[in-house]
Order: sequence, then C-alpha cells, then structure tokens
Amino acid sequence: MSGDDAATGAEPGAVNLNHPGVEPAIVRLDSVTHEYGGAGRRVVALQDLDLAVGRGELLCLLGASGCGKSTMLNLIAGLEDPTRGAVTRPESGAALMFQDSALFPWLDVTTNVELALRLRGVPRRERQQEARRLLALVRLEDAAKRRVHELSGGMRQRAALARALAQNTEVLLMDEPFAALDAITRDLLHLELLDLWRELGRTIVFVTHNVREAVALGQRVLLLSSRPGRVIGEWHTADVEGHGAQAAGIAADITAALRRELERHA
Ligand code: ADP
Ligand code: MG
Repeated sequence: MSGDDAATGAEPGAVNLNHPGVEPAIVRLDSVTHEYGGAGRRVVALQDLDLAVGRGELLCLLGASGCGKSTMLNLIAGLEDPTRGAVTRPESGAALMFQDSALFPWLDVTTNVELALRLRGVPRRERQQEARRLLALVRLEDAAKRRVHELSGGMRQRAALARALAQNTEVLLMDEPFAALDAITRDLLHLELLDLWRELGRTIVFVTHNVREAVALGQRVLLLSSRPGRVIGEWHTADVEGHGAQAAGIAADITAALRRELERHA
C-alpha cells in the first residue's frame, strides 16, 4: 500500500468488503452464487458475492481470466439467473458490449445502429437522425456508410459502443471491449469513453484483466479473487488522473494484490 488517500483496500480493515459499493445502488448483487454444469462437473463461478453499483458510477471489475467477470455481467444483463442469491437489475435493463464487436459485418455502420433503434421501437423517420447523433458521439460520422468488415478494430468498437448506446439503457456493461486493440488505440478510447461517461451520465460497469486500464478508467476499482469470484480489494480512483504518476502508484498496489491472489492459487 502507498500512503495515498486515493488508494484504499486490499489490506484488512481498509474498507468493508462484505458489501463494497455505493448507495443508492442501481445494480445490486446480494449473496450471489453462480454454478455451471451438472453433478460431477460442477463449476462454482461466483460464491457469496455482494456488490452495489452506484447510479452514474464508472466501476471497473478487475480479475484474472476465469474468475467470473463475464458471469457477473451476464447476471446483471439478465442473460442468466443466479443459482442462489438476488440480483437487482436496473428498470431500463443493461446494454452489453464485448471484445468482439458482434456487429453485422456486411451491413454499414449506420444500418447496424439503426437496427438497435428499431428493436427499441424508435419510429423509422427518427432512426436516421438518432443514428447520426450516436455516430457523432463516438466520432464515427465519417465512417457512417462504411461496412463493418472494412473498419479497423478501434472503429468497430466505436460502432459497437454507438449500438449499445442506441439501446438507451441506464446501465452499460462492457466486457473487455478494448482487449484486442493496440495500446495507442486503447488509450485513445479510454479518453473518449471518459468524456462520454461525463457527458451522458450513464452507469458503466467495465470488466478488464488489465490493471492499468482499470485505474485509467475507473472511478472505483474492485479486485476479484480467482474462481470462485469474490471481491477482495477496493480502490477509489475518481480523482486519479488517467495515466499519471499517482495512477502508476495505485496500479503497482493493485498488481501486488493481484499477484498475491494468483500465488495463493498456484
Ligand atoms: P472471466 O470472464 O472472468 O474470464 P467467466 O465468467 O467467463 O470468467 O467464467 C468463470 C468460470 O466459469 C470459468 O472457470 C469458466 O470456465 C466457467 N464457465 C463460464 N461459462 C461456463 C459455461 N457456460 N459452462 C461451464 N462453465 C462455464
Ligand atoms: Mg470474460
């Protein structure tokens, strides 16, 4: 631990990890356990997990591969129901975005976004204008008529973000959306996502296994244990500037905590 006020957590007594979070919450997980598979090949992905996500918060969930991050997002999105425990979901639902943009590759960017608007019931005559507005938000206005398969990885993820915003949910769930991008593109998208978050006031739950990314983006970072996933550390990083010296110090703290956790399982 550094002596820094912005960094709390990981060490016993620093924060209440029985129920890390912010109230009033827009998303809650209470004593959630999630298991996959039947008898004999049962996998406990999450165990007795408690979590509260504050309205308007940008929360990063950080953990090693396989610790249950995607499972958490799927539970929040309502794609799965927990084996035990309770999930409180936002009334307007939650849009989910993945590492793979999952756009229709042969359709142009605008049509991909308009499809999401159509699913939401936006009348045809409003769709075009709304798609244009969303593509401007993610700085894709110049690529509006290009087909997805012609785009760079970063542009695809911008388009996927526009489509997620088109769902108009209060909560946006992002599952390692920038993991496949090069570092320069990723840093640029971090800045743009932070700008968007400030402008739109949406709640974002961002999942990553990259410590630097979590510190650069998150207002709060939760560290998850290896399977089964539980919260084992919390850092408040709202006042920490993206990639500055203070961010590097906190990233070092978190990396040490993550290493301890991995060694415990080695
Ligand atoms: P993460 O996103 O952190 O990598 P996941 O939530 O995808 O982790 O997975 C957590 C654990 O649950 C892993 O051990 C994974 O293999 C297992 N798992 C995930 N989905 C399934 C499934 N559909 N069936 C069986 N096991 C699964
Ligand atoms: Mg995952």
